[in-house]
Amino acid sequence: MNQDCLFCKIIRGEVPSTKVYEDELVYGFKDINPAAPIHILVVPKKHVDSLAQITDQDETYIWAIHKAMNKIAEQQGFKENGYRVIVNCGKDSGQEVMHLHYHVLAGSKFGDKIV
Ligand code: AMP
Ligand code: ZN
Repeated sequence: MNQDCLFCKIIRGEVPSTKVYEDELVYGFKDINPAAPIHILVVPKKHVDSLAQITDQDETYIWAIHKAMNKIAEQQGFKENGYRVIVNCGKDSGQEVMHLHYHVLAGSKFGDKIV
């Protein structure tokens, strides 16, 4: 945990959030500035700056995030229609919060394909 990190504060409950999912390794909550009808952020409960900083010690967290996204898609009812997952990594990507987070976007058909 990182004292000054916004998402660590959200995980600790020091900054309010709208929780959509939680288990022992992962926390999922609504993005405050949604870019789609459904926009959820899924984060490891351990502080990791970005995907560029993951190590073997983070393996269980990364797998847990992927399982959590599947569960969230099922629980929130967008598994069948599909969704987009985005991870910004580092300054060229525009990553603003330096705590690894997966953006899960759903609820509309995304026209603009970057990749
Ligand atoms: P990124 O640009 O990939 O670092 O994404 C950071 C995301 O965090 C943005 O989509 C923000 O809207 C979102 N965000 C920032 N502050 C909060 C907050 N307090 N609660 C929920 N989401 C937030
Ligand atoms: Zn953090």
